[in-house]
Amino acid sequence: MNLVMFFGKKNNQRYNFMNSNLLKVFQKKIHSFFKPNRINHDLISEPALDTIKILKKNNYDAFIVGGAIRDILMGYKPKDFDIATNATPEQVRSAFKRSRIIGRRFKIVHVIYGREIIEVSTFRSKPRKKIEMSNGVLKDNEYGSIEEDAERRDFTINALYYDVEDKKIIDFFGGLNDIQDNQLRLIGDPKLRYKEDPIRILRAIRFSAKLKMEIHSKTLNEINNSMEFLKSVPYSRLFDEVMKFFLTGHAEESMMKFKKYNLVNIYFPSLKNNNKIFKNFLLQSLKNTDLRIKNGKSINPGFLLAVFLWRDVIELFEKYDKNFPHSSLALNKAIDNTIYKQSKIFPIQRRFSITMSEIWRLQPRFNSKSSKKIYRLLNHPRFRASYDFLLLRCQSLEISKSIGLWWTKFIESDKKNQDLLIANKKIEDIKI
Ligand code: ATP
Ligand code: MG
Repeated sequence: MNLVMFFGKKNNQRYNFMNSNLLKVFQKKIHSFFKPNRINHDLISEPALDTIKILKKNNYDAFIVGGAIRDILMGYKPKDFDIATNATPEQVRSAFKRSRIIGRRFKIVHVIYGREIIEVSTFRSKPRKKIEMSNGVLKDNEYGSIEEDAERRDFTINALYYDVEDKKIIDFFGGLNDIQDNQLRLIGDPKLRYKEDPIRILRAIRFSAKLKMEIHSKTLNEINNSMEFLKSVPYSRLFDEVMKFFLTGHAEESMMKFKKYNLVNIYFPSLKNNNKIFKNFLLQSLKNTDLRIKNGKSINPGFLLAVFLWRDVIELFEKYDKNFPHSSLALNKAIDNTIYKQSKIFPIQRRFSITMSEIWRLQPRFNSKSSKKIYRLLNHPRFRASYDFLLLRCQSLEISKSIGLWWTKFIESDKKNQDLLIANKKIEDIKI
């Protein structure tokens, strides 16, 4: 839709296209539309409100925009608050003592309130002169009006600007309607928008999982044709976006979409493994991850990635075990080859692959009977993650539940009872 729903800036150029009566009808419609959508200010963080207050005191326009407004309207707790303003980064910087300018491609300002950071970005336009950088991304570093800023955003529901003073939402592209209709719709021509920034393909799929929204037909239809553009996205950006599918509280839903849109083929083909035990193991880990996030617990991406590739490790281990004198050597080789195989498809950042290897390598040590080895394992920095991993294996019946139960009891016991437990520990018939 190209009609601009906008109120506040009366001299706005786009108004010239509408006669004033039409405009009045429009404004009425907008007002009545907004009433049920009152934003509860208790859901907005104090720092975000304060940042806006200060910018306004300095005579700048400032709005909360993007995910936070969308999430509040849809009944989710906002993750963080982004502010859009007509002040330049330098002007924002000088309005806040505790702030810093960041970003190379486009400067934004981080305003720091203790542990909370408010991201303030200057209204920017779509690239006027299309400068293609070596990685294929179009360079966009020009400031613009609020409308231009809205136009370069991805989805209609992400282009809602909330004015905290007059408590109105500015909706340029029918985002409020789309929320009501539960539709995820790209702004502009999907074909061009995906080409301009292919990460939007992943964002469309991720938001459809996170917000349980239908992807609008045109936005959906271009996904398949645009998939190949994803190859041009720099790896680190891609990795972060892929991890967001699973580490932001909707991993279970995300996995369904990941499979539906064939992203498993591109990023983690091992997940296609049809082994029933593995499917259970994976599902349980996704549920646990979502629960941990809901309860405000920390998440280790290495843990989840260790789950994703575990079936590969098992299968390779079984293959190598016959040919090695000691099963630990077979396990090491299985681990190295699993990571190598994955690195040819979608490499895992080293800091995570180290965690994964540690979790995997510690697994057979849970079956040890020696007191010294048991205490050494208990004090290993990766013990907790490996123990959680072991419990998942038990839960999915890959290994006997008794080994997990023994360790849970052991952790909860005092030293005297721990020694008793060790004396009576049974060795399970498992190799890893
Ligand atoms: P969440 O934080 O839950 O992932 P979000 O919408 O806040 O969702 P961010 O990545 O924090 O996502 O981006 C903030 C806003 O910036 C978005 O709401 C959107 O308006 C804009 N944006 C982010 N990435 C893009 C993109 N690739 N193309 C266009 N606009 C984008
Ligand atoms: Mg956000």
